[in-house]
Amino acid sequence: MTNDKTLFLDALPVMQQLTDHGYEAYFVGGSVRDFLMGRPINDIDITTNATPDEIEALFVHTIPVGKEHGTINVVWNGINYEITTFRTEGVYLDHRRPSHVSFVRDLYQDVERRDFTINAIAMDQHFNVLDYFEGQQDINNQLIRTVGDPHARFEEDALRILRGLRFQAQLGFTIDTQTYNAMAERAADISHLAIERIMVELEKLLNGAHVIKTFTTLADLHIWDHIVYFKDMPMKHIQISSPVTLPQFLAIVMYQSTQSVKTKQLKRSKDEIKHAERLLRAVQEVLTLTSKQALQQFVYDYGLALCNEILAIQPLLQENNIPQPSALLFNGQTITETWNTLSITNRQQLAIDGKMLISAFDKKAGPWLKDALRLAECAVVQQQIANDKQEIIEWVRANVKIS
Ligand code: ATP
Ligand code: MG
Repeated sequence: MTNDKTLFLDALPVMQQLTDHGYEAYFVGGSVRDFLMGRPINDIDITTNATPDEIEALFVHTIPVGKEHGTINVVWNGINYEITTFRTEGVYLDHRRPSHVSFVRDLYQDVERRDFTINAIAMDQHFNVLDYFEGQQDINNQLIRTVGDPHARFEEDALRILRGLRFQAQLGFTIDTQTYNAMAERAADISHLAIERIMVELEKLLNGAHVIKTFTTLADLHIWDHIVYFKDMPMKHIQISSPVTLPQFLAIVMYQSTQSVKTKQLKRSKDEIKHAERLLRAVQEVLTLTSKQALQQFVYDYGLALCNEILAIQPLLQENNIPQPSALLFNGQTITETWNTLSITNRQQLAIDGKMLISAFDKKAGPWLKDALRLAECAVVQQQIANDKQEIIEWVRANVKIS
């Protein structure tokens, strides 16, 4: 495995600017962990003893994203670096937020407040590693272990329970026994967390390469019982053995549920929820396809991307006992061919619109119009008639009740 230093080398001028002015600066967190593991690195986090004001004074382009907590973003060469002042955290309130943070001048205190040993490794600009909590050993042993007493750390911030599970799903590591037992004991505290924070970790977890293992752990720890929405869903009947996106997961959960539980509680974007619901509808409808015309209509209505998404999650649907369409009718080739030979791919391409129908029939707009347009659209899509204005009008005259 190669350890790619490029992103760290890009960040060196930022580090140097800090160290040239007498401050300490270290790479820390996920980037160091992933680098040491030879995994691709996401964003680079830097920790320093410079205060937020001191950081702002040293760089031209800064954004005070979380200044009161010590975080300033520095933009350098178009790249965003999150720089955080060494800090400790005061007592925790409600298992989710510290009463205050205090800036400190010592790296040790900063890494001591971090969640897991593998996330508490610091690295200086010469690639020297400072590892106070045997994080490298845990990387080698593939262990997820809290920094310090797991009970206390989870009691402070219950999100760490989900984060630990998320790292298990992403890295395939084992959760250290004491850490695991503390997770089990403190799982109920998850209910105190903001759902937005839960969902960030959950989305990463579901997408993790090792989600198969973690999904079982979630059930063992009764995690779902403490999360809004999911606690009302039949989570025991759901299996996830390969990475899924959040909308795909939600579609499967909704499929299995006999009652409608408000997805609003999850506080995700409208687009995302809509996508999940659309996928659910498509999964239900795809089963009813029996003819070439029906396939044309389906591919037109849902689009090629969604059809391919259904194909991509077939194993997942199967393991959840969700009936599948015949592979003869619905496969990569048939949907692509169908899409490529559609006479129109959206309503705008239809040779007729509402205004034309109104004038052709000399009728006021009314419910008939919507019906006529949809029926004409289907007739064109299913190639019963050509996409031709006159032909469509004649077809509507003969086939649609205009009242
Ligand atoms: P990713 O690669 O997904 O960004 P990450 O480990 O960098 O993973 P972040 O959420 O970006 O995770 O957090 C950066 C670092 O901040 C973590 O590595 C950890 O050291 C610390 N950290 C984040 N959240 C917590 C928390 N709830 N409690 C303690 N430390 C935390
Ligand atoms: Mg990170």
